[in-house]
Amino acid sequence: MPLNKQWKFTPSLPRRILSVTDLGSQIHRAVLQLIDASLPNRCLMCHQGIELGSGICPSCLNAVLYQTPSCLGCGRSLVVQTAYCGACMKQQPLKVVAPASYHHGIGEQVAAIKYQAQLAGLEAMTAALVRRVLALEQLHLIQRPQALVIVPLHPNRLRQRGFNQAWLIAESLSRQLDIPLIEDALVRIVDTRPQEGLTGKQRRRNLADAFRLKADFGYQRVAIVDDVVTTGTTAQTIAKLFEVDYIQVQVWCLARAEAPGLLEP
Ligand SMILES: [Zn+2]
Ligand SMILES: [Zn+2]
Repeated sequence: MPLNKQWKFTPSLPRRILSVTDLGSQIHRAVLQLIDASLPNRCLMCHQGIELGSGICPSCLNAVLYQTPSCLGCGRSLVVQTAYCGACMKQQPLKVVAPASYHHGIGEQVAAIKYQAQLAGLEAMTAALVRRVLALEQLHLIQRPQALVIVPLHPNRLRQRGFNQAWLIAESLSRQLDIPLIEDALVRIVDTRPQEGLTGKQRRRNLADAFRLKADFGYQRVAIVDDVVTTGTTAQTIAKLFEVDYIQVQVWCLARAEAPGLLEP
């Protein structure tokens, strides 16, 4: 079906959600086929020969994952894995589950997914996130969500980029953990400008009313999936939409950027 035909919106919101979702799925299925067809047999990081399809070799991957337990609130290193560090304990911020810090080597690979459509490392990084989820579950620090949702791209952005990296990650997580991915739960109704380079206040203003949650979302526990969490403004904006309906929210991502001041020199 020609793309431009798919993109003719009717003014009614339900129809609009439907056409965006249909197009998203079509594009994403095509992207998945492309990934399978284009995987290199060299590690993206050290360029050594590896088994076809694994993207990043185990020693490079292990080197960029968290080497110590870390706070689910702020990413700070901990001695023992608890949910929160002392500073986060009082406020109990949104739990962000990530296998790695954005600033310690994995950031480049995560950014390459989005900006260069370099998808070879996606499965290895997602598997690392799965291991992190299972470890935290075993420690009873998170509860398994009943559904996954992704941070949606506005249709204009989806058309430009051709895929939503969050969908690719969530689809893989959904398969590995057997948790349904609810593709049409959230819609991005405003085409916001990129968050990079904005102050906290500008970020919040930029995102105000950007998303809408489907009225009959029937789950009590949900994980929002994104490629990277930097300031957390996007995740918090979406979390609020769920929390007004008493839905428990956590965030899953491939890498998180710690709050400024927490990074070692
Ligand atoms: Zn390597
Ligand atoms: Zn903390």
